[in-house]
Amino acid sequence: MRLLLVEDDELLSTSLRHDLEQQGFAVDLAKEGVEAEFMGDEMAYDLIVLDLGLPTRSGIEVLRNWRSRDNHTPVIILTARDAWHERVAGFKAGADDYLGKPFHVEELVVRLQALIRRSHEMVGNRLKSGGLELDEERQQVILPSQQRLELTGTEFRLLRCLILNKGKILSKTRLTEHVYEQDFDRDSNLIEVYIRRLRDKLGSQVIETRRGQGYIYVGVET
Ligand code: CA
Repeated sequence: MRLLLVEDDELLSTSLRHDLEQQGFAVDLAKEGVEAEFMGDEMAYDLIVLDLGLPTRSGIEVLRNWRSRDNHTPVIILTARDAWHERVAGFKAGADDYLGKPFHVEELVVRLQALIRRSHEMVGNRLKSGGLELDEERQQVILPSQQRLELTGTEFRLLRCLILNKGKILSKTRLTEHVYEQDFDRDSNLIEVYIRRLRDKLGSQVIETRRGQGYIYVGVET
């Protein structure tokens, strides 16, 4: 799950980034509007957390520009707690949700998880597809038998990306983008290693290889 965090307050962005990474998100940071707009269009993010008061270009303007170019990445805006007019402007510009500052990171995380489910048309509060269910709090996968398996952070992020895109071919490059940070020394061969580990845990038929194209999550139910 790759997330763009747009926030010019260094203190807040540093702690938020840390907390979101702990929750299994690969986080890229933008500190001003023009850069944020560019990054949001260049990279296929799953989610964007957008502060409104930014240097070089306001968050509202950035959001409006994304939407005018058919960039529909789910966006949660950060606004001052009492600024109802900011929230209205945010929704009009195409925001999917908002959070008033100051906020607890736990609330941001559950709102982000709800946005992910909504954007992937998941029902209820579970990330479930093809017979496997993910427990985001414990980073576990739940099998149809209700048995729970522990996953490492990377395994969890990889499986989440596959499950959310069930039936679609995901290239190694795409998977790498969603599993690692921007400045991580990316080695797409590592994806093969982690796919193998997931197959060892879940069964080899769960993830299919399309030679030269990538991987598909097909699920455990046939
Ligand atoms: Ca700000």
